[in-house]
Amino acid sequence: MLDNLISLPTLMVCTFLSTLVVAIFLAFHWFAGHKSVATGYWCVAMWVGSAASVLLGLRGILAPEVSIGLGNALAALGYSLTWAGFRAFDDQRVSRLAIAAGPAAWVAAYAFSDQFAADMSLRIILMSVIVSAYSLAMARELLRGRGREALPSRRVIALLLATHAVFYSARIPFALLAPVSDGGSPAVSFWFAAFALEIFVHTLVVAVSILILLKERSEFVFRQAARSDALTGVLNRGAFMAEAAGALSPRHPGGVLMLLDLDHFKAVNDTHGHQAGDKVLCRFAAAVTARLEDGMVFGRFGGEEFALFVPDRDLDEAVAFADLLREDTAALSIGHYGALISVSVSIGVASALLCGGDIDNLVAAADCALYRAKAEGRNRVSAAGPAESLLQVAGRMRDADSNTGVANVSVAL
Ligand code: GH3
Ligand code: MG
Ligand code: MG
Repeated sequence: MLDNLISLPTLMVCTFLSTLVVAIFLAFHWFAGHKSVATGYWCVAMWVGSAASVLLGLRGILAPEVSIGLGNALAALGYSLTWAGFRAFDDQRVSRLAIAAGPAAWVAAYAFSDQFAADMSLRIILMSVIVSAYSLAMARELLRGRGREALPSRRVIALLLATHAVFYSARIPFALLAPVSDGGSPAVSFWFAAFALEIFVHTLVVAVSILILLKERSEFVFRQAARSDALTGVLNRGAFMAEAAGALSPRHPGGVLMLLDLDHFKAVNDTHGHQAGDKVLCRFAAAVTARLEDGMVFGRFGGEEFALFVPDRDLDEAVAFADLLREDTAALSIGHYGALISVSVSIGVASALLCGGDIDNLVAAADCALYRAKAEGRNRVSAAGPAESLLQVAGRMRDADSNTGVANVSVAL
């Protein structure tokens, strides 16, 4: 019944139109300045796929060498280029051999074997192997990139691609058990028509998926940029505060906050220039980033001041870690136009258990400790003790008093 309902030429026209629309859109996207390698591969893949649909749709009108031979070769090339686009999307090297492998296998079989060219079932089997292999490879690429860049649609699109691979390879047993021949009507059998419908739906899915992925990628890039410090690439103050506050949930009441301030940094600018100062900031941020462990949150608070939140550590462990960062910083030797620049850092440390599990209190307590480290001679780590904690209590009481109109409270240290 399905073979009566579905007209293969109509399906081919629909496939052609859907790939053509996406091909035109991707071409505009490319010429509008989004010249990524992935967009390039996908754009060419869509044009090639459109051409393949035209040739395959003109079966019986064009010579078989053109409609079947060239049409399937272009269809295989469309798939391999789409796969190349998925590789490039995640900055993976694209092997030209792998792109050529599928189409070349088809061309070789069709051109050099008369039996293959004349046997529709054999042709179905080979195309099914080629298409399923590329579809599975696309799904694998998408899942592999998840750890680096968790785009929301990766998993769903990978599932759809893998499902298509399963469907497409299911044509093989059908071709073996219920062989078809070129002689019949265009909708040669029920199963052939059903699979043709699936191919059309899949083409739409791939075309839409590519557009979704490109949109999600640009959203991801903008979101990252809004969260990062433009100079050093670490989190900016807003993003740091949000992440650290999130890590300080009531379920994880512990944790330690550090404020790291480069010593006499103004002198670096004054002596070597602002550019050298920028270089020092980047090298310092990179040195700390290299030491980060799972769950740690690091950001630039502003100027030459950075903040680090360390979860699940007690104060002593955190102070030891801070001292490691201090030593790393002192060991930095930053070359700039023949000069070697050295810096040191002072670090104020405050523990959530001692100073309260509120991010603002922690920052204030760490700031007090940092002030002490500076006053005591710089290039040192100082931990917020009960005095700094009391300051927080005083601050809270002052806030409460100002809300209730009671007189100010002062705390002697
Ligand atoms: P201290 O040891 O007391 O911290 O002294 P300091 O010189 O490090 O601190 P101060 O606050 O006096 O100077 C900070 C300097 O950092 C002044 C400012 O020009 C410089 N600065 C802030 N942001 C940047 C930046 O993005 N790039 C560069 N090169 N310098 C910056
Ligand atoms: Mg400083
Ligand atoms: Mg400062």
